[in-house]
Amino acid sequence: MSGYSFGKITLRHLNLLRDSVYFSDYRGCVRPEYPGIHFFGACVLLCCMYHRVEADKLSNSLPILERHFEYIRQNFQVVVPGEVLAADMVNLCMVFDDASYSFYSYVFPLMQKFGIRVVLAVAPKFIIESAGHIPSSRRLGVPTDELMLDDRFAVDAPFCSWQELSEICASGFVTIASHSFSHPNLLRFQDTEDELVRSKKTLEENLRCKVDSFVYPYGQFNRLIAERVRSRYKYSFAIGAGDNVSWDGVGGILFRAPADDLKDPVSIFSKWNLRKYEILRSRLFVKKWLMDRRSSIT
Ligand SMILES: [Zn+2]
Repeated sequence: MSGYSFGKITLRHLNLLRDSVYFSDYRGCVRPEYPGIHFFGACVLLCCMYHRVEADKLSNSLPILERHFEYIRQNFQVVVPGEVLAADMVNLCMVFDDASYSFYSYVFPLMQKFGIRVVLAVAPKFIIESAGHIPSSRRLGVPTDELMLDDRFAVDAPFCSWQELSEICASGFVTIASHSFSHPNLLRFQDTEDELVRSKKTLEENLRCKVDSFVYPYGQFNRLIAERVRSRYKYSFAIGAGDNVSWDGVGGILFRAPADDLKDPVSIFSKWNLRKYEILRSRLFVKKWLMDRRSSIT
């Protein structure tokens, strides 16, 4: 028994079991751009989800976010959907949801300062033409729970305006993603087609950019919705394990680690957390594999 502990043997066997499941039939386990290389045990594409800055909920403080950006610039290859992934370091895709005005106020300047590009998920229903006449403090001060209420977003403009989004797009630092048209829970919604098509069309027409990513509102989807999204968009993002093996994600869906309420700029990327994301990803692969098996049998 010398040289081995019970824990090590168990973990090794679990890893072997996991890898045998990976190898079974799922194409996401091999990166086509690096044939023959398997990235088991190593985080390849980490996706993170952010919302507001200096707000009441789902938010980061500006000083922590600034140090977080600085750390990211020094330690990651920052990528946006479709870009070739670096082979020798972790690739990081940062996705900001909802396009709140705090994105324009705080995040956009940080991105330019550190040369970092991100994905911005926009639900066009809440975007008004311009908001220059509304004081910044009023726009930033809308409580998170009230952002999407009819009598708040049109009056207090808590989201970026079309004017601001155009400026953000023109900078080249942002990839715009659709976040549906009106940000419903798609599981409770009958006409998902309208949410998927109208949002993409509105964003492309207003911002004159191609929109080929979709971010599920509240991270909610089912198999049917995922198929509809896949027929309209090349990439889609949900919430869960942040660790993805390629842009294919799991079953075509990229999972993002929640990155709001950071207590410090770095610990979200600790070895322990990366390992945790990897284990979560393994569970998703197994779940997907079992679902595929079940649907091929029935
Ligand atoms: Zn959202």
